[in-house]
Amino acid sequence: MVSPKLRWNCPSAGGLIPDNAAMSLGEFDLIETFFWRRPGQGPHRAVVGNGDDCAVIAPAPGMQLAVSTDTLVEGRHFLSTVSPARLGHKALAVNLSDLAACGAAPVAFTLALTLPRVDEAWLRGFARGLLDLADEHDCELIGGDTTAGPLAIGITVMGEVPAGQALLRSGAQVGDDLWVSGHPGEARLALEAFRGSLHPGLSTEAFEATRLAMERPDPRVALGVGLRSLATAAIDVSDGLLGDLGHVLRRSRVGASLNLDELPVSPWLVARSPDERLDCILAGGDDYELLFTASPAQRERIAQLGAELGLVLSRIGRIEAEPGLRLWRGGQTVPNRWTSFDHFKGAA
Ligand code: ADP
Ligand code: MG
Repeated sequence: MVSPKLRWNCPSAGGLIPDNAAMSLGEFDLIETFFWRRPGQGPHRAVVGNGDDCAVIAPAPGMQLAVSTDTLVEGRHFLSTVSPARLGHKALAVNLSDLAACGAAPVAFTLALTLPRVDEAWLRGFARGLLDLADEHDCELIGGDTTAGPLAIGITVMGEVPAGQALLRSGAQVGDDLWVSGHPGEARLALEAFRGSLHPGLSTEAFEATRLAMERPDPRVALGVGLRSLATAAIDVSDGLLGDLGHVLRRSRVGASLNLDELPVSPWLVARSPDERLDCILAGGDDYELLFTASPAQRERIAQLGAELGLVLSRIGRIEAEPGLRLWRGGQTVPNRWTSFDHFKGAA
């Protein structure tokens, strides 16, 4: 039987592969060439790493494993114009962002790669973007799966957090402050520029800067770890600030007031119309900033953490007992006309 994955010059596929494929890199050669590290190269966190039927990892004593999966599909999560290095970076970054939202420190990840063809230059760039970010966060690639088909990248990431200290969506308390990191909205501005829907369009400088935010997000791992003992709840902003805030409010069974005047405005959004600015910040998506809640007693320590990390942390609202979300601007409530991105309902 010809397995659908045996279309390359796979050494163990004995006779299934046509001779003219012999020049191309086989499946196992490909995996070894691009995704396995030599001893001393890259982090080593696993007891048994890449190359056996399973990887084996042992969490440190007193730690719990936090596990999360995210898949990127061409046309859905990234545009075909993205460079392979940035795509490799982003595929891991969106997964590390989930660990950050739980306050977990990265340990290891697996990579399920579906490729339409073996393009060595593409693989080299992709592996560099992916493994550079992995090394930066001491996160070992311990295994995966490689198959042929439309381009898709699935990553499962594992992190560790002291037992009982994982930050959850369900922990927000009435009276807590509501905070957000960085400048949400930049990725959406770039996406709209790609779609040609901005009038006026962006300057080259603004386009390149916001495109970087969209294609190469920085997961807030150190912030998540620093917030373990400070925050009551956290989530990473992937589907839009208001939509993701909604998840925290529902899971915590609370409501909130959000002050639109306190939202951090990226320098690239300052020049846009007020409506466009709010659309991007509140419902943009693909931000990978952390939205979190904390007692007002922690304000000073949170400000200090932001300063240590060189990260803008903005206090944008307050958790309240009354269910639902109330938006304020200039001391008045304003209607909520924003919804978040839903893959099955279409764009916001
Ligand atoms: P099996 O058929 O036993 O599931 P595979 O042939 O799929 O194993 O993979 C062989 C080895 O290479 C395994 O250790 C697997 O984890 C690893 N591997 C496969 N694809 C990748 C990849 N894209 N990145 C890293 N490791 C991979
Ligand atoms: Mg096996």
